[in-house]
Amino acid sequence: MIKANDPTRTSWAEVPKDSDFPIQNLPFGVFRTASNPSPRACTAIGSNVVDLAVMNYLDLLDDLEIDNEVFSNRYLNDLMALGKPKLRQLRDRLADLLDARNEEARDLAWHFLHPMDKVELLLPVRIGDYTDFYSSLEHALNVGTMFRPDNPLLPNWKHLPVGYHGRASSIVVSGTPVQRPMGQTMPEGATLPVFGPTKLLDFELEMAFVVGKPNPMGQPVDITDAEDHIFGLMLFNDWSARDIQSWEYVPLGPFLAKNFASTVSPWVVTLDALEPFRTAGPVQDPQPLQYLQFQGEKSYDLRLEVEIQTQGGARAVVCRSNFKNLYWNMCQQFAHHTSGGCNMNIGDLCASGTISGPTPDSYGSMLELTWRGTKPIRMPDGTERKFIQDGDTVTMRGWGEKNGVRIGFGEAAGKVLPPL
Ligand code: CA
Repeated sequence: MIKANDPTRTSWAEVPKDSDFPIQNLPFGVFRTASNPSPRACTAIGSNVVDLAVMNYLDLLDDLEIDNEVFSNRYLNDLMALGKPKLRQLRDRLADLLDARNEEARDLAWHFLHPMDKVELLLPVRIGDYTDFYSSLEHALNVGTMFRPDNPLLPNWKHLPVGYHGRASSIVVSGTPVQRPMGQTMPEGATLPVFGPTKLLDFELEMAFVVGKPNPMGQPVDITDAEDHIFGLMLFNDWSARDIQSWEYVPLGPFLAKNFASTVSPWVVTLDALEPFRTAGPVQDPQPLQYLQFQGEKSYDLRLEVEIQTQGGARAVVCRSNFKNLYWNMCQQFAHHTSGGCNMNIGDLCASGTISGPTPDSYGSMLELTWRGTKPIRMPDGTERKFIQDGDTVTMRGWGEKNGVRIGFGEAAGKVLPPL
């Protein structure tokens, strides 16, 4: 077992019962404070962030021999570049320092501990390239059924993890407002398109993995080695404008309907921390080609939910899903992505595609939840939602729970602002 994952361990720092960040999680992020605006790496414990640069400065991480520039850094890319064995040592050390038995570290805590609600959590990764997959069978079937009732699943879908290359520049951290995009649409019955604000703004409940180890161009990564290249996971909202999408997507796929904004959670939860939640994914039939065949359990049992909060404060959880619903796993996505020789770099992001489950309350987008607006969702304040309105805040959450330990991802939240 990974030392830091020991479920019996407790911390001297207070960890509220429903916290996403017990001592067994120790995710990585980047933060700054009003009094010290230099961004630096951090981890989380309970309702606090832990300044790793200060910990290193206090010689608490000394024998790991990590340069302070790795921690006093705007992004986690250099930290990830240290590689999994070193990062495992770092996580184990952090667990020892935050352990209830470590009075020496506790007495120094005022140097490196900050209340999470008093700091600014920044986009933690310098994202070079971003890819979005389409790996939920239920999502593909739902969307396929709506738009092609006679032929919902296209012939390639069960043979490869379908994806497209997305836009990295507009990926923002949780809490960043999202402006309703303008775009070109073809109104029903019209003969000419119009330009204006999207009328069908949607979320897509996804998770994204962060690449932590590169592969050279021309050297595909075997599926048995793929996990070694995946540093960790984040929540991901692939904001989508359905009316723009349905007009523009032929024949090359999503473009402006997706590139105006995507929201990620501020914490990268390592695959190591998710180890207890490993589980088998859906049975794949037909069996995929050999380069996509894998051994063992490659999915994770992680509960996911989406909440809408109106401008007036009415809140409703509109979707409850699970990461294990995904048909294609991350190892298959990574192996497929590199199979033609594509080089992946540290900080590249690969999102899963909308994670819909088998029941109507587990669908991961408004498009599916309201079935193209034909079954509106009733909010507690009496209003209805077919899609997302100005002033609404969409918040995604995710967590695994086992042996009394809850490993969570925090939040990916974004408030929708009217168009300029
Ligand atoms: Ca998507």
